Amino acid sequence: MTKAPLVPPRLKNDCFAMPQGVDWVKVDEALARLREILVPIAEVETLSTARACGRVLAQDCVAQRSNPPAPNSAVDGYGFAHSATGEGVQNLPLVEGRAAAGQPFGGAIPHGSSVRILTGAILPKGVDTVVLEEDCATIDGRVAFDGPVKAGANTREAGEDVSEGDIALQAGHRLRAPDIALLSAVGIGEVTVYRPLSVGVLSTGDELLPDPKQVGGLHNIYDANRPMLLSLIEGWGFQPVDLGHVRDDAAAIRARLDEGAILADVILTSGGASAGDEDHVSRLLKNTGSLSSWRIALKPGRPLALALWDETPVFGFPGNPVAAFVCALIFARPALSLMSGGAWQEPHGFMVPAAFSKAKKPGRREYLRARLNADGAVEVFKSEGSGRISGLSWADGLVELPDEALNVEPGMPVRFLPYTGFGV
Ligand code: AMP
Ligand code: MG
Repeated sequence: MTKAPLVPPRLKNDCFAMPQGVDWVKVDEALARLREILVPIAEVETLSTARACGRVLAQDCVAQRSNPPAPNSAVDGYGFAHSATGEGVQNLPLVEGRAAAGQPFGGAIPHGSSVRILTGAILPKGVDTVVLEEDCATIDGRVAFDGPVKAGANTREAGEDVSEGDIALQAGHRLRAPDIALLSAVGIGEVTVYRPLSVGVLSTGDELLPDPKQVGGLHNIYDANRPMLLSLIEGWGFQPVDLGHVRDDAAAIRARLDEGAILADVILTSGGASAGDEDHVSRLLKNTGSLSSWRIALKPGRPLALALWDETPVFGFPGNPVAAFVCALIFARPALSLMSGGAWQEPHGFMVPAAFSKAKKPGRREYLRARLNADGAVEVFKSEGSGRISGLSWADGLVELPDEALNVEPGMPVRFLPYTGFGV
């Protein structure tokens, strides 16, 4: 899939510029800026509801039908008019026939009579209450049960779940399996959704070998970020576009970004995003005049290069896989969600007791590789080194420590963000 047809620019060239004098950007400020700047893609398409899981609604979905469409029985049992019953043992004559799901009872039930009724069957005329079959004795065309019975017991009202004309789901909602059930139940067979957001991923660095099947020298390392980022993107329901690996060479990076800007709505690069001699990505983006290097008060992460390349937003992540991963979860996930037409996404977190100690300095927010132990406390990986990829894999989530200083002691509540809450 290629990106949008020609449309006027919706992002200005300097959109990522930080105000004059801003040096360090707090994580929350950086997130707020991204949320303010980025815009969703415009193109929509119509799909059958059954094929739309994972897609983002571009329009509100209005229930075409109530659920349930008519009052019906919630159990297998016997139905009657409540007003004909009272205290003590009730003994009612049973009419011929029965009411079953999809097989409505034709006639009306006389006041004081009862009818065999099964789960999901429409309540016949004259029935407003049902008693469970387990609570009944039946013999010779009669049914007996203990009164009093609550009026309306074991029945479902028409539209008690959703009424015709209600908004079943709002625009911006990303469809999951339960949503497909809801839309189908209320008679919505087609939905208008945004086309999938295409996200390009590019790795840069002379040291990288793009394919782990290749044999390299000791000066080489395998490209870990590109397959990681592509996997995240796929898991988040976006269209991954593999832009491959390029060496630290401005012309090569330029050519690949040109391609990426055609193929993808947004490009993620990793490596070369700082301000050093070999940081070709940031140098090149700077030369286009649209680069902003955000020095984010974040560990691990710090430099985040943001730019437009041919009107396509580029997120330049640090090369360290741990930093690239954390930046992807914290910044790319909500940003891509917004660009895809969905809501800005906040990570899900909860407070759990720490199973570690740490004297955290003020100034930077920190994310530690972490997992819950058998006692429900959270442990952190033995090393904070941001090149230690094994710790990412060891972990089940991140501990988020606030921007301020903090002395963490075992047992102190800390915020745990499970990977699953990031859709990982
Ligand atoms: P850089 O941000 O280019 O200075 O890279 C920081 C560190 O991350 C260096 O040790 C790089 O070798 C490493 N690195 C950069 N890109 C990747 C990648 N795609 N996969 C694994 N490690 C990388
Ligand atoms: Mg590099």
